[in-house]
Amino acid sequence: MRIIFIDCPQEIPCNPCQSACAAGAIQVPSLTERPRILPEKCVACGNCVAACPGQACFLIDEEYSETEATIEFPFEFLPVPEQGELREARDNEGQTVCLGRVVEVLPRNRWHGTMVVRLAVPKELVRQVRGMARTAAEAQEEGGM
Ligand code: SF4
Ligand code: SF4
Repeated sequence: MRIIFIDCPQEIPCNPCQSACAAGAIQVPSLTERPRILPEKCVACGNCVAACPGQACFLIDEEYSETEATIEFPFEFLPVPEQGELREARDNEGQTVCLGRVVEVLPRNRWHGTMVVRLAVPKELVRQVRGMARTAAEAQEEGGM
């Protein structure tokens, strides 16, 4: 089961996560407070994952397989990653946590034009992961944009 996970460091005026959640599962009591989650209301639509400008919203599936969990995060670089690709999974500090496998890429035409990648990683490490390393081609693409 995919569940919402928010790791929001912001104490600045910000609430796109709340606006993106039609299910009412995210509440930002005042603009400078961190979001609160009502997990029982989350329908795992993923809108908040794509909508958050701070890349602080994730969907996690800790029951993906016996050994792996998945985490979904926005990924804004081209070319589009391919299913099955192995990538370094990175933490909040940009440090490598483990090797991950791309299991799904949700295209840009959904969810505010932001691509979302679903990465499988060892179950016990999933809550440390916040994204994945870029390839050299993706780094060049960013420079050319
Ligand atoms: S995944 Fe969808 S339903 Fe769940 S908190 Fe995010 S926007 Fe709301
Ligand atoms: S949109 Fe993202 S950065 Fe802004 S309050 Fe929500 S989780 Fe935090």
